[in-house]
Amino acid sequence: MTYRIAVLPGDGIGAEIVPQAIRVLEAIGAKYGLSFTFTEGLIGGIAIDKTGQPLPAETLELCRNSDAILLGAIGGPKWDDLPTHLRPEVGALLPLRKELGLYANIRPCHTYDALADASTLKKEVLAGTDMVIIRELTGGLYFGSKGREDIDGVQKAWDTMLYSTPEIERIVRLAFETAGHRRKKLCSVDKANVLESSRLWRETVNRLAPEYPDIAVTHMYVDNAAMQFIRNPGQFDVVVTENTFGDILSDQASMLSASLGMLASASLGGHVGLYEPAHGSAPDIAGQKKANPIATILSAAMMLEYSFNRVAEARAIEAAIEAVLAKGFRTGDIMEAGKTLVNTEEMTDRVLEEL
Ligand code: ATP
Ligand code: MG
Repeated sequence: MTYRIAVLPGDGIGAEIVPQAIRVLEAIGAKYGLSFTFTEGLIGGIAIDKTGQPLPAETLELCRNSDAILLGAIGGPKWDDLPTHLRPEVGALLPLRKELGLYANIRPCHTYDALADASTLKKEVLAGTDMVIIRELTGGLYFGSKGREDIDGVQKAWDTMLYSTPEIERIVRLAFETAGHRRKKLCSVDKANVLESSRLWRETVNRLAPEYPDIAVTHMYVDNAAMQFIRNPGQFDVVVTENTFGDILSDQASMLSASLGMLASASLGGHVGLYEPAHGSAPDIAGQKKANPIATILSAAMMLEYSFNRVAEARAIEAAIEAVLAKGFRTGDIMEAGKTLVNTEEMTDRVLEEL
């Protein structure tokens, strides 16, 4: 079986970390008898520089004709002052998600025993943290109608948190199914005491719940969830929430894994899944071989599991990373006294040795 992978390194550290994930996929392929083709495409700032477009038509076509997409990161200070529709995030990432129907963003977040001291949070609070945040990705405030008005010199602006029943149903079903493969707990996060869209969200969850009798469902207001994430993150298994709440909560949750450089993500829903680290292009360390490649390598593991159903291969990568951390190898973002500092490539070398 040959899997066709669209490779979009993008900007900043993207060009340094994506090749590391490819090395790991090639090693897995050799070990388990899978083959991959890797075809590179332009996206983000580098695409603007070379073609004038943040998401060239050729790139979108490449993505459509692939079995999965591996993305690095996009954007950087060089392109921040462009008009909104050309900016890498708005001009590339939002249309790519919409065009490919990627309505579900999956972010697993767990605490590594080896990194418990590298976190800014207390060990006792972090212990046992192992959750998956499922964020709705193509609805809500990001895509609802927006506007501005100047009435007698007073500026007004609005964004609409719009959701339809089918949009809520598909993400909630995916969350129930995910919980079914895990500890069978689903927490739906909303603001149903205030927002009408949250009322519809909660009603939809409750209507679907009887179809998944083995899943224990709870509802939590988003403000309480933000507090509970820090107070007792171990209580969560699968968390499902709308676009904006998920954006905020998943960045908050990244700190439960000690560094943004440890957090992977998958965006699913259409024919082709997109896999990328949860972090951005990190312009402050780009080109210095300091970037932690683990988030991107774990994203490649998610690709094996979610797009290709290669679960044993995905678990092998995760176990290799645990082993490397246990042996004390650290990139700068997770470095502590007494550990061995390695660069981007050396971290991957250690992972390959474990594999
Ligand atoms: P974006 O808007 O694209 O999300 P951002 O401005 O929020 O980007 P990041 O690019 O994610 O920020 O970087 C935030 C901080 O985390 C920076 O100091 C960066 O160096 C650090 N960082 C991000 N990813 C990594 C990584 N893989 N390894 C080490 N440090 C990282
Ligand atoms: Mg960010």
